[in-house]
Amino acid sequence: MRYRAYARHNLQSLPAYGRLSKEQLEAISIVSEVLPFKTNNYVVNELIDWDNYEEDPMFILNFPQKSMLSPSHYKTLAMMVGNNVPKADLAKYVAEVRQKLNPHPAGQQDYNVPTLQGKKLTGIQHKYNETMLFFPSQGQTCHAYCTFCFRWPQFTGQSEMKFAMKQTGLVTSYLKENPSISDILITGGDPMTMKASILKKYLDAIMDADLPNLKTIRIGSKSLSFWPYRFISDPDSAELLDLFQEVTDRGLHLAFMAHFNHHKELQTDALKEAVSRIRKTGAQIRTQSPLLRHINDDPVVWANMWQTQVDLGMIPYYMFVARDTGAQSYFGISLEEAHRIYSEAYKSISGIGRTVRGPSMSAGPGKIRVAGITEVQGEKVFVLEFLQGRNADWIGKPFFAAYDPAVQWLDDLKPAFGEKEFFYEKEYKKMLKVDKLPEHFLDMDTQKYA
Ligand SMILES: *Cc1c(COP(=O)(O)O)cnc(C)c1O
Ligand code: SF4
Repeated sequence: MRYRAYARHNLQSLPAYGRLSKEQLEAISIVSEVLPFKTNNYVVNELIDWDNYEEDPMFILNFPQKSMLSPSHYKTLAMMVGNNVPKADLAKYVAEVRQKLNPHPAGQQDYNVPTLQGKKLTGIQHKYNETMLFFPSQGQTCHAYCTFCFRWPQFTGQSEMKFAMKQTGLVTSYLKENPSISDILITGGDPMTMKASILKKYLDAIMDADLPNLKTIRIGSKSLSFWPYRFISDPDSAELLDLFQEVTDRGLHLAFMAHFNHHKELQTDALKEAVSRIRKTGAQIRTQSPLLRHINDDPVVWANMWQTQVDLGMIPYYMFVARDTGAQSYFGISLEEAHRIYSEAYKSISGIGRTVRGPSMSAGPGKIRVAGITEVQGEKVFVLEFLQGRNADWIGKPFFAAYDPAVQWLDDLKPAFGEKEFFYEKEYKKMLKVDKLPEHFLDMDTQKYA
């Protein structure tokens, strides 16, 4: 099948265009001024149930919804569009709304950007000792855009692509200087939007460099759910699979980190075929998913999703809490509910699927999971645990926050037992060289989930 994208400019050619209500069309046109909108022929024809599209999780995942903006933002935008205000005025207001939705303080993104011989490596992030993230410049788009995603700088061309890089030379030099790194995670956008020949250039350079400590190449991708034909019928599908094979033949572990949101994504023949082809190359597929209101806020969905992944030979890996930004009032779920959904689903699947860990917040200090809710000496508390830490010594140590049923993110949690700060805070502030933690102590990596 040939890939075909739908966005604002060709919405009318959408096969189901005639089925979209007037309200929905208006919502798409208004909200997509702010949130980048893109879907494709596979999602539209094989994933979305058009008889019930307004509640369909795949529809909500790709198509902007009215309530993803605040009523006042929406109203103002609708008025401006309706009145045909000058382009520059509209652009200015759109930028303002985006700024409000994305609480990323300026400069935050720099915390994980390493330097090599005094030079900033803008296509690399290195936060946890053993894993380096690499953002190849040609992979900074996706086969479709998730409405909850915040990679605006890439998708809307709003700012220079800070995290993209072309030079493999710098990547291999950095790996050589940092022998603690065993894993390189190639990410985006979606690196599977790259041509196989380009990915091959990167991977060959990495594999040909003498890097005895490098064990695992990870590829973070949503292509299995948005474009499984990437591995079946694209002009370079065979070349791509050969490349995967080459990686595993060289004795490296190839970990395909697949992003899924719902078991509906796992049911098509194309998905099954793609998974089977990837696995035949010797690659392992691990899965990660954010928990989202209106899309998968139901333990039955998660249990089904994890079990189906296991049935297809994939390994459930992470469940993420939706980060506290963007259309958060639309997608957000309290930590209490996240924990309930996780536990109920976890309990009901085979032990083989209980490789999954969560619900986890990818926050500044690390990946922190809600391990439980309990009572200690009469006080109700969240039991928290680092799954990953800026300091590896933080990992696995249980710590406690005061129970609060409304809290959705780490920076709204207070330490339990009347303590002033969490055990890691002092050291973390020192690492950031600040006296006070920034209001949203998040990182660039929390903006996506694969
Ligand atoms: C999640 C993440 C990783 C990978 O962590 P694992 O627990 O090893 O999967 C690496 N770097 C960053 C910045 C991350 O957010
Ligand atoms: S969540 Fe991943 S696949 Fe979805 S738009 Fe963001 S980067 Fe692309």
